[in-house]
Amino acid sequence: PDEGLMACGEFGPGRLPEVERIGAALLQSLSRDSLAGPGHCAASALPLAGQKVILTAGPTVEALDPVRFISNRSSGKQGYAIAAALARLGAETVLVSGPTALAAPKGVTRIDVESAREMLAAVESQLPAAAFVAVAAVADWRPEQPQSLKIKKAADQGPPALSLVENPDILRHVAQAGPHRPRLVVGFAAETHDVEALATAKLARKGCDWIVANDVSGDVMGGERNEVAILSPSGIERLPPLHKDQVGEAIAQRIADALTQNLR
Ligand code: C5P
Repeated sequence: PDEGLMACGEFGPGRLPEVERIGAALLQSLSRDSLAGPGHCAASALPLAGQKVILTAGPTVEALDPVRFISNRSSGKQGYAIAAALARLGAETVLVSGPTALAAPKGVTRIDVESAREMLAAVESQLPAAAFVAVAAVADWRPEQPQSLKIKKAADQGPPALSLVENPDILRHVAQAGPHRPRLVVGFAAETHDVEALATAKLARKGCDWIVANDVSGDVMGGERNEVAILSPSGIERLPPLHKDQVGEAIAQRIADALTQNLR
């Protein structure tokens, strides 16, 4: 069941999930069963068999002291849905994930990290790969000097000053030309305004092949649905509002098409 406010006034798991989500879950279990069943498509016939894809998802968490951190809002749902769909298409799927409440999807290898620097190191340790999909909401900054002991409140001193330094840009790093650059590098742009214009600028700035733009001005963060547009140098494809599982299927299918046809 979905979680949320129920008719009786209580909050918790007990709501009927949206019909699209029930449909997507049915399709997922059918595609798994068809792989296992006799007389069906062998795993090696799947479009991404033999291809490795690395994804990042969830937030990063940047310690201020042992009990406090700064972070970004991110449930990880969209990145996990793309990873699940890539695994169903046969990809060797590695998901480098910040802290989320989600279970690793079936067939996906998850590497748990906390900070942006740990996320970058984990991604680099997994290269080379055919594709890299950066869905994580990486914190732009981290505290310059995390303290090893809890910062104490002193009555006469007021709040401590917070000095931040910039985190590495994982997407830009992986998208740089070089022997380990994946053939397809996909970034995300979560914006609250001017979504497509900002995403177009990001495509050039990050050096990636596609940017998936989403408007997060509504209840996309942590919600079940998303409306995205896929930008590439050859144009823009706008998808209708869909459940995040369906967005995951659509993006994974386009990644499979690009890798198997050697397109970007
Ligand atoms: O720069 P901005 O955070 O808006 O870019 C978003 C895209 O860049 C996402 O794909 C995100 O995963 C990626 N990113 C990253 N490392 C960062 C910041 C963003 O990989 N430090």
